Amino acid sequence: MRRSDLAPAGRGARARAVASLTLVAAALALPRAALAYCRTSVCPETQSTAAVCNPQQATDCGIPLAWPSPCVSYSLQEDASDQVTLAETEAIFEQAFATWTAADCGGGTTPRMEVTYLGPISCDAHEYNQRKGNANIITFRDDGWPYGSGGSTLALTTVTYNLKNGEIYDADMEINSFDVTLSMGDDDVSFDLLSIATHEVGHFLGLSHSAEVSATMYADYRPESTMLRDLDDDDRAGICSVYPPGEPVEACDPTPRHGFSDLCAVDQPDREESGGCAAAPSSTGGGGGLLAAAAAALGALARARRGGAARPGRERAR
Ligand SMILES: [Zn+2]
Repeated sequence: MRRSDLAPAGRGARARAVASLTLVAAALALPRAALAYCRTSVCPETQSTAAVCNPQQATDCGIPLAWPSPCVSYSLQEDASDQVTLAETEAIFEQAFATWTAADCGGGTTPRMEVTYLGPISCDAHEYNQRKGNANIITFRDDGWPYGSGGSTLALTTVTYNLKNGEIYDADMEINSFDVTLSMGDDDVSFDLLSIATHEVGHFLGLSHSAEVSATMYADYRPESTMLRDLDDDDRAGICSVYPPGEPVEACDPTPRHGFSDLCAVDQPDREESGGCAAAPSSTGGGGGLLAAAAAALGALARARRGGAARPGRERAR
């Protein structure tokens, strides 16, 4: 995906919007109970990313996004990071996903959603392939952060979805291990990977940023904090609205759309024209307009960990 895809685009192109940061000082000035969780949505009029919140805001627009099946999978890029091993990453994300799928929806019920880890894979590109296999990847960016945020963005989740009905087709997560010193555990916390992971999983599942400052889905992370590890009531209300409790999930098939592949598209063999993709949208990037991608970032409310120099937050981008 090219950088130019960042700008919302019209029919026939991929639209991408960045949900970004607010300053805590501004958010604290808001009445605490005035705003709550928001769901990432597609706005039909503009075919761009928007949000629908509870209660509704004046600017809310669109059809909220959700995975169409209660069986979803993810894969970890096998190289993990120089800062974190694959085994450590596996444990972190298992916990992060479980935090959401085990959320208390009341009366002992939980969201009707199962998330399965499919193991490590080689592909490190965030992409959705309409004619080849896919994986919902989680990858670290050790060698450079391609989004030019100057270190204030900790991670980015890109969700690809159907523009007409909001069905999520693919979600990929990138963690900024180039600029950011990650930590694990409760001692000597810098940028807590479990906090970052838990927030990004919220995006993966269809939630947008909340204005509730105590929520995991609040847009800013305060360095040295582990607060985002645990869901707030606002987060629980959000995930339970996206995937309401229901019948137990049976015969769960978490295979990504168009089949699973641990290879990026460029390394996958071409498929026969007639093979396998009858249910796919009939056109790809250049012509279809059926798909869009939304990217949401978690930012550091940063002061530098050492030296005390203030880092700028990112301004709200939409
Ligand atoms: Zn975020």
